[in-house]
Amino acid sequence: MKNVSFEGIVLFKRPHREKDSLVKIFTQAYGTKMFFVKGLQKPNHKLTSTTLPMTLNSYIGAINEDGLSFLTEATSLSIFRNLQEDFLAQAYAAYIIQLVDAAVEDNTPDPKSYDWLKVALLALDNQQVPEIVTTIMELDLLANFGVGLVWHRCRICRNTQEPFKFSMRHQGVLCQNHWQEDPYLLPTSPRAIHIVKILNQTSINNINQVNISATTLSEIRHLMEEIYKEFVGLNLKSYSYLKKMANMEPSITRLMKHRKQSDS
Ligand SMILES: [Zn+2]
Repeated sequence: MKNVSFEGIVLFKRPHREKDSLVKIFTQAYGTKMFFVKGLQKPNHKLTSTTLPMTLNSYIGAINEDGLSFLTEATSLSIFRNLQEDFLAQAYAAYIIQLVDAAVEDNTPDPKSYDWLKVALLALDNQQVPEIVTTIMELDLLANFGVGLVWHRCRICRNTQEPFKFSMRHQGVLCQNHWQEDPYLLPTSPRAIHIVKILNQTSINNINQVNISATTLSEIRHLMEEIYKEFVGLNLKSYSYLKKMANMEPSITRLMKHRKQSDS
């Protein structure tokens, strides 16, 4: 097998046999791959730091089309230092990583999802509002799960005039004239739906300009949770953990505290 060099983000690592490990890496060029690393559980292994989950690295190794691939050498590109210290942002990152792993097909190149994951981790590391980063990722990944929702015009009459409400039954928004078409219309406010419509067309690179109140944010998170429950039905351990963390301290309060501290 020929060695090649490639960039990748570590998704997870697990022990294999007594001293070895399996490391799942989302590579930019080859998609998600499982790597066998001999002796990785031993102390001072040369690949210890570059096989930690939630790190971005440049590797040299042998890629197998299916089955296990192998790593020879690696250089760290980013350890996302803030994410290592900020447990709430880290919980969001862990959820996004698991979600991406569930959404992309193994052993299949998906450079677009790779880039989005990389940008999302960088944004969380740069202390962007994690609910927004996560919502943009979730909206984008819906297509991977075969779900296409309509946010910009009424599903019944194609009217683009807001206010809109969201209908699970119609897989998209309804204009005021058609709210009565769905007795189970979600209670989410038209304001929150409006923001989701914008986030659905926003790339994570541009989220600096998005300014959202804590109430609207929590409405949006609730809506996304309902949508994923209804149309995707994943049960990710990282999501239950994230919810526990987020309930303890809403990120908005925390970010405001943080910003105040850095101002003074
Ligand atoms: Zn309508």
